[in-house]
Amino acid sequence: MTWRATVLTLFPEMFPGPLGVSLAGKALALGIWELEARDIRASATDKHRSVDDTPAGGGPGMVLRADILAAAIDAANAPDALPRLLMSPRGRPLTQSRVRQLAAGPGALIICGRFEGVDERVIEARQLEEVSIGDYVLSGGEIAAMALIDACVRLLPGVMGKAESGADESFSVSLLEYPQYTRPQIFEGRPIPEILISGDHARVATWRRAEAEALTSTRRPDLWPASQKPPKSPKEG
Ligand code: SAH
Repeated sequence: MTWRATVLTLFPEMFPGPLGVSLAGKALALGIWELEARDIRASATDKHRSVDDTPAGGGPGMVLRADILAAAIDAANAPDALPRLLMSPRGRPLTQSRVRQLAAGPGALIICGRFEGVDERVIEARQLEEVSIGDYVLSGGEIAAMALIDACVRLLPGVMGKAESGADESFSVSLLEYPQYTRPQIFEGRPIPEILISGDHARVATWRRAEAEALTSTRRPDLWPASQKPPKSPKEG
């Protein structure tokens, strides 16, 4: 079955955008995945086609209305089992393991917020899973949705050239990736590390593992414990 992203946005013209080129774009053209960008404004009811209103209780900005967004979600007619994601800085931070889960499923319905966000009641009523792409605030959910879709699409079968190229990347084993090199052999006086041109695959693998571990422990010690956990002894709970 074709992996399908249905995106609800006030700016459908932003899609496919960067998803239309390179790996994701080729896969889209090949039909490995499908993209539908739906205009939330199409579900507006008044003659001004308004989708937002001022926050109850006061405060700056505008809030996407629950009724309009719910109507847009319902109109998308997504199967009940499809993950319904709301891009949101309050969400659970996206991880490679969640990306892997999503890529293994049928796709996702992805809602892009704008302005100050969306009315809380639609999150509850439509059981939206809030997903963040990091601890910073974007002006809208579209770029966040593109990041999520891109991360999923590259894992779909047939998208990456080599089946194994996703296996030893950053995060796939709780380690950042080892440094990569290619020609020329010497760049501004810096040679490619000797081992990598030795042809000794076992030594290359050992070197890469050590580099990945060193990089992870200096840059991302928060990831490190997962790869350091000793096997549990049967006595421990
Ligand atoms: N006032 C809100 C921010 C709204 S930003 C708050 O403080 O939480 C407008 C929209 O951009 C959000 O509704 C969300 O869809 C999107 N967005 C902003 N930052 C994001 C992030 N880090 N991850 C995912 N989506 C984000």
